[in-house]
Amino acid sequence: MTGAPLLLYNSLGRAIQRFEPIDATNVRLYSCGPTVYNCAHIGNLRAYVFTDTLSRVLTWKAKDLGWGPVTHVINITDVGHLTSDADAGDDKMEAAAKASGRDIWAIAAHYTDAFKQNLADLHIRAPSRFPLATDHVLGMIDFAQAIETNCYHLEDGLYFDTTTVPDYGRLAGSRDDAREARIDPVAGKRHPQDFAIWRTSGPGENRQMEWDSPWGRGAPGWHLECSVMSRQYLGERFDIHTGGIDHREIHHPNEIAQNQAMSGTPDTGATFWMHNNFVVERDGKISKSSGAFKTLQALVDRGFHPLAYRLMCLQAHYRSEMEFSWEGIAAAQTRLKRLAQTVEALRARPGSASADSTTAHLDRLDTAVSDDLNTPRALIALDELLADKRVAAADRIAALADFDAVLGLDLAQLSRAALRVRPVTATIDAPAIAERLAERREARAARDFAASDAIRDALSAAGVEVMDGDPLGWDWRLDA
Ligand code: AMP
Ligand code: ZN
Repeated sequence: MTGAPLLLYNSLGRAIQRFEPIDATNVRLYSCGPTVYNCAHIGNLRAYVFTDTLSRVLTWKAKDLGWGPVTHVINITDVGHLTSDADAGDDKMEAAAKASGRDIWAIAAHYTDAFKQNLADLHIRAPSRFPLATDHVLGMIDFAQAIETNCYHLEDGLYFDTTTVPDYGRLAGSRDDAREARIDPVAGKRHPQDFAIWRTSGPGENRQMEWDSPWGRGAPGWHLECSVMSRQYLGERFDIHTGGIDHREIHHPNEIAQNQAMSGTPDTGATFWMHNNFVVERDGKISKSSGAFKTLQALVDRGFHPLAYRLMCLQAHYRSEMEFSWEGIAAAQTRLKRLAQTVEALRARPGSASADSTTAHLDRLDTAVSDDLNTPRALIALDELLADKRVAAADRIAALADFDAVLGLDLAQLSRAALRVRPVTATIDAPAIAERLAERREARAARDFAASDAIRDALSAAGVEVMDGDPLGWDWRLDA
């Protein structure tokens, strides 16, 4: 029932390939984590809805395909990431500390916790490990020493010579070196795509995060951490490495180069390199460094449940760009309410034995997600299951557990009431609204329409729309 071959798009080679784990007893997955100098924006969070879906599909299919459990690592980047992914600009963490006057370690801890809360709110399951880059600096120094023959020294640090490994940049495809070279080139670099392994602090440079190293006091280059942590927790060769599509151009080619230097082979480390496409807004890409960006909290403040955002992500294929709009999230929230309402109705009348079984529905789910995680199609299979009158309600609910395991919407538990989120601008709360609506019902029963209209107008002035005869059975709605 879950035994269709799993086909995934491998950015390395740009082709759909059949996935088979290197070691069937332990499927290994590494995802580049957030840089914790600020809150994650909804684009960043799409990256983790994607990895969670991947990990859920691998777990769901494991039994039938004879695989063991999934080991999933998401690192936390709390040092080293510059404002440009190439070697230009300031360290994002140091810049945030300077701008706010706060301690850099406190900033990192605060935004790491905020990130984990975002994941929990989106029903993204915690990975097996969340290693911090700053806990692995000694490992990074050891790694850098081991690949030092692939590097050269400049005054400001140790640089990787990308011509010392085969096929540098194969993952990126055609790379616009000229464009890279235009971004504040580091004097003395042998090739524009060479990158920092260690950045030595300059005289007078006042960093809060610094470590001693054979190349002077300083901080590791950003790419090093993922090679070190993936190797430490998943081994020299593992199954899948994920990240946003921006990582296909610089960060992941550089990780691959480091891995090849370390192993002395052309092996790239991971077999599959997978990338989610961006969330965009009508006026362009969402970016953390631009200052004004949307967080999950901003959606909740406008009355949207985090799972409505999860559903919005699942409605798009992970390799397609996804445009965020308020109309789009409102539509996703309505779809989610409708699903919750349907499930509630099924639960209320479980029915007797089915004339038909749910096998065909579970097969459709399997076919969809095994085709490079086609979640839009899986959601259609879900609609078909819930609407299939040949199958007893109790059996539909039983099959729902599989859809929940894969899609993470937890519809079997989700109540419609939980989907009511109060916008921050609302001046009235749910119990007060219920009280006023009860008074209105009494007034209508007594045919006192003037009183009933007055209550509706008063509610409207408080931002509450009374919804008589709503097909979803909602009797009111708050305007954000
Ligand atoms: P960062 O916190 O900047 O290190 O990014 C965390 C993850 O979010 C990385 O995998 C990025 O590639 C990904 N990412 C960044 N911006 C977006 C976006 N607008 N849409 C989707 N993913 C993104
Ligand atoms: Zn990484």
